[in-house]
Amino acid sequence: MTFLTRFAPSPTGYLHVGNIRTALFNFLLSKKNKGKFLLRIDDTDLERSKQVYEDEIKRDLEWLGIEWDFCERQSTRFDRYYEVLENLKSENKIYPCYETKSELDLKRKKQLNMGKPPIYDRTALKLSLEDYKKFEEKGKKAHWRFLLDKKKICWNDIIIGSVSIDLESLSDPVFVKEDGQFLYTLASVCDDIDFCITHVVRGSDHLTNTATQIQLIQDLGFDVPIYGHHSLLIDSSGDNLSKRLGSLSIREIRNSGIEPMALINLMSAIGSSKSPKLLHSLDEIFDFFDISLFGSAPTKFDLKLLNSMSAKFLRSTPYHLIENELTNIGIPNSSQKDFWEAIKENLNSRYEISKLWDLCTNGISPVIDKEDLEFVRTALAALPEAPFNKDSWKIWTTKVSDKTGRKGKNLFLPLRKALTGNSVGPDMGKLLPFLGKIPKI
Ligand code: GLU
Repeated sequence: MTFLTRFAPSPTGYLHVGNIRTALFNFLLSKKNKGKFLLRIDDTDLERSKQVYEDEIKRDLEWLGIEWDFCERQSTRFDRYYEVLENLKSENKIYPCYETKSELDLKRKKQLNMGKPPIYDRTALKLSLEDYKKFEEKGKKAHWRFLLDKKKICWNDIIIGSVSIDLESLSDPVFVKEDGQFLYTLASVCDDIDFCITHVVRGSDHLTNTATQIQLIQDLGFDVPIYGHHSLLIDSSGDNLSKRLGSLSIREIRNSGIEPMALINLMSAIGSSKSPKLLHSLDEIFDFFDISLFGSAPTKFDLKLLNSMSAKFLRSTPYHLIENELTNIGIPNSSQKDFWEAIKENLNSRYEISKLWDLCTNGISPVIDKEDLEFVRTALAALPEAPFNKDSWKIWTTKVSDKTGRKGKNLFLPLRKALTGNSVGPDMGKLLPFLGKIPKI
């Protein structure tokens, strides 16, 4: 079987870490199995769907290296959805309803007060042709519900194992709204069928949708794909992540300087029985990822862990994988490798690379505490002429220590601050050979 998976975001907002988990699982599952991956833009809600969100979704996926083999947009497929809708109508599988939102809310409240589950009571099934006419004459438009069977739907979920959902415990889902807008279920099922999707992986909040979708697929006479429902992410205090979507949007994470591969490494492990690794290529991730090892318990997403993994990932990046970035910053080829080796161990994000290069080429205004002024002056006077080499720092600081009696932090910190304007940073012995401008004081 050729695997064909899909990621189907609605372009009504930015992607967050939870969405990316879904995208990644589908991508990894198909690529691990030499299959294809479809990006499907679920934009049947024409009012809320925005081009800017679609663009950002694509940018986020590209940033992560999640490449889609093809992209489809639901708004181009309305004809097909109408066709299927008419087909369902002719078989009485869907029925028109005229309740308003507030009438439905009231019904739900009453049911809850009586301790009953808030399932749609199918009043509309009792309407006659006369009734329809009356509603239409009053200018009311119908919304259309799918008639669920009285049966249990069972499937073998590739993440949670055997699942059984009683359709009688669900409301007949609305397929088309009063204004003619297709809702998720019908459009999604049509697409999954037409594009021959073999595996549908999505969040466990879709479990009941899957039950209704399976009935629909079977009613339409097609084979049901394989389903996998991953757990939802929670934050460190156990709350659903949805409250913090802003700070956990991929856009924010991208702008904060996180390494995309660190996020991929984290996401391909959390919630499974494996610990995250720091793999540098997608091929290694394909080998590492195993969907059958994921569990159904809510999965903790820890931004602090992501930050520290990102720093570790960057520090462990071999030169050939960062070469382009160093070139873009303007670091001459001849210096790149040594410069990278000199700075990498202390980096937290890529943003720091250009700052350090700027420091080396343009210098900084030194930071000198008052009590260190004389010491720094004496030290700088003893600094040998450039160019420096890997031994220069050791030779110089030994000489300065002998001269001033200073040792340890008292010796090194004021020199670091004077030369780099910062109290933390790369190993000074390694950095000194790159410092082109020594401050004058
Ligand atoms: N647009 C749907 C969502 O974002 C897709 C769900 C699915 O994968 O079927 O929830």
